[in-house]
Amino acid sequence: MSVGAGEAVQIPVGISACLAGDNVRYNGGHSQSRLCLNTLSRYFSFSRFCPEVAAGFGTPRPTMRLTGSPQAPRLVYSDSTNPEEDLSPQLRAGFAGRMHEFAGLDGYVLMKNSPSCGLERIKIYRDNGYPWEERGQGIFAAALQAAYPLLPIEEEGRLHDHQLRENFILRVYAHHNFRHEVRASPTYHKLLQFHSSYKYVLMAHSQPTYKALGRYLAEAHDQPLPEVLEHYFSQLMQALQKPATRRNHANVLLHLLGYLKHSVPGDARQHIVDIIDRYRTGKIPLVTPLTLLRHYIDREGSSYVQAQRYWQPYPEDLGLTNQL
Ligand code: SF4
Repeated sequence: MSVGAGEAVQIPVGISACLAGDNVRYNGGHSQSRLCLNTLSRYFSFSRFCPEVAAGFGTPRPTMRLTGSPQAPRLVYSDSTNPEEDLSPQLRAGFAGRMHEFAGLDGYVLMKNSPSCGLERIKIYRDNGYPWEERGQGIFAAALQAAYPLLPIEEEGRLHDHQLRENFILRVYAHHNFRHEVRASPTYHKLLQFHSSYKYVLMAHSQPTYKALGRYLAEAHDQPLPEVLEHYFSQLMQALQKPATRRNHANVLLHLLGYLKHSVPGDARQHIVDIIDRYRTGKIPLVTPLTLLRHYIDREGSSYVQAQRYWQPYPEDLGLTNQL
């Protein structure tokens, strides 16, 4: 069930139920995400979950907010006058028994600004009613991230930024492919194969991690496989979290062009170098040098270089490489 080249497998991804269109918000409404429901749902199979409803708070319900210390905030009703109130245990009890279900997901899209689901920048109020300057995470979002630190998690609002959307989708596919190609029945050989196919994706995101993981795998075969898998996957997912730069992409493209040194004439290679340079300086989108180079690689490249995930780390028709 590995994917990345436009196959029609739907990847399991969690979503705040209000974003999926369920009427679970405090006011009985929803916050349906057209991006998730109209576009991403062609590739992702969304599992919807509302932690507040799961905890029995009911719909509609009074609004809630975080209060107390930024390090250990409490969930309270926004209009509460009881300084001892703490709805956090009730909220936690609602999702604690469901946490294991998220182990089968390859990503999670959360609703912003929620004291339960918000991933970052959530206001935490002092006892005097004014917010701390320091912001926090929603209680469910923090627990989800603690339980699954390598799971790609993003707020829906941030997915409207092209670069963040591309990065999230790339990580979801990497997470999914690793689970199915390596973790499902792990061997050292499968890990090497996986690494080989992701090599240039990794190089585009972090040259130091690309080098370090190559060295690590060359010496890791004597170590216990579970430890090697944990280390590799954790390094990979952390590296992919950093969006790839134009400079790194240009380096990767030039590297891949090197595979055509003996099969493509010098003037054609110079033309590709010029196009890569135009991409590097921000004049054209990534899809232009990528398509041109791939045309030659498909005709003249080795099966090793043709099989690189870099060419299509997610379905092409998402258009994620088309933007300037
Ligand atoms: S708790 Fe989360 S899923 Fe439920 S309504 Fe609030 S933001 Fe949406």
